Amino acid sequence: MLSKKSKNWVSLVPYGLNQQHPNAYRDMAEVAWENRDNLAYAWRILRDGCCDGCALGTTGMRDWTMKGIHLCAVRLNLLRLNTMPAMDWRLLEDVGPLRKLSERKLRKLGRLAVPMVRRKGENGFTRIAWDEAVQLIAERLRGLDPRRVAWYITSRGLTNEAYYAHQKVARFIGTNNVDTSARVCHAPSTLALSETVGCAATTCSYSDWIGCDLIVFVGSNIANNQPVATKYLCYAKDAGSKVFLVNPYFEPGMERYWVPSVTKSALFGTRITDDFFQVHTGGDIPFFYGVMKHLIENGWVDREFVAARTVGWEDIERKVARELMIRLPDKRVLDSKECCDDCIEKSLASIQTIRAILIDKQVELVQVHDGSLYLLIEFMAEGVRQFLTITEPLSTPPSPQRAARRFKPREEYFAALEQLRFHLHSCLQQVAKIAEMETPKVAAFLRSQQEWEEAQYLRPKTRQPILPER
Ligand code: SF4
Repeated sequence: MLSKKSKNWVSLVPYGLNQQHPNAYRDMAEVAWENRDNLAYAWRILRDGCCDGCALGTTGMRDWTMKGIHLCAVRLNLLRLNTMPAMDWRLLEDVGPLRKLSERKLRKLGRLAVPMVRRKGENGFTRIAWDEAVQLIAERLRGLDPRRVAWYITSRGLTNEAYYAHQKVARFIGTNNVDTSARVCHAPSTLALSETVGCAATTCSYSDWIGCDLIVFVGSNIANNQPVATKYLCYAKDAGSKVFLVNPYFEPGMERYWVPSVTKSALFGTRITDDFFQVHTGGDIPFFYGVMKHLIENGWVDREFVAARTVGWEDIERKVARELMIRLPDKRVLDSKECCDDCIEKSLASIQTIRAILIDKQVELVQVHDGSLYLLIEFMAEGVRQFLTITEPLSTPPSPQRAARRFKPREEYFAALEQLRFHLHSCLQQVAKIAEMETPKVAAFLRSQQEWEEAQYLRPKTRQPILPER
């Protein structure tokens, strides 16, 4: 019988040589070759330095999560930035020929080790002394209004110390206009995280992965973006964790990976994802509503956990009710009795919009689908559904039976529209109570000032009033 660990193997062909995947050993050999003129220094950076590649973080080639080597291609590819020798600065005296070089070749020319300046009209740069360079920069900065100065700092390749020094200089000069590409990268996630989980960063450590029950990746491809993470996953899989992936595309690297520094994985590979859920782009939100619905229906929600760690679970009805009160009142269908040439087409379009909003809001209410608001929306949606069936004969000639009854589709349509308006307004009055907003004003012709017959809207099975006691 296969052990739990060997069940995660991909194939018995060593290093998956018959399969397509990145070849980490070849990449390492290429990096060693690229740094051959400064190998000792390169090794010292790897052994003693911290990684300037991403925020995962290392000390030398170790981290604080797992045993063994922590190293990835990103860091190896950045090595050359630190080991490359100084370029021949004379090449910059005429930049014309350099224009023909590719970005890669330009980078390989080396580091600029001396200060140079290019003045207006000159073909290239002229070497100057350090004192002259400092003087030139200082004069320019002194002549500027600090409020109109901005500092922008890139991310990859800079250390925390460099960031610290930059912002200190910016403040010394008198500006707080300091921005970083890290801010641009992470602004959406930090905002979303702080609004949802209340903290602008992750709430767990990578070490929590190893041995947990389930890890769910949503729209994420760590095998490409953060290959070291596949090593944590390899350990997690060995410890019995399951991995689910929700993504439009099943990345081959998320399906299986050969972790070069874990012997077993390097030989037999590791199956990463246990279950893949292919959603359409933007389909993750409906997917999770569906998951929530399933969890709730099966009673798998740990209510105590939710109550202790979240807010707003109960407020969702009020929030959705408020949105309905703002979005639903559609001028043409709900507030107007005017008739125009394309009156029917316009009101049908409005009703379709209302229907889409209602469906949308029902999805949002999945966790309280046994609540009053969900039921009210269902009433409204049902009214719309029935109304739309009335409109069908408008586009088709009446049947002989209807013709015999002198069926007049337009008249039936307007009569039904008035009923629908009355029905929607009546429902909206109840929605307004849940939203704790004022009852919408209703035109006299809708006759909806008449008393709301609450008995019509009792829960079908229990016959209890739909409105909660507040
Ligand atoms: S994942 Fe790669 S780039 Fe990021 S810290 Fe680790 S070695 Fe550096």
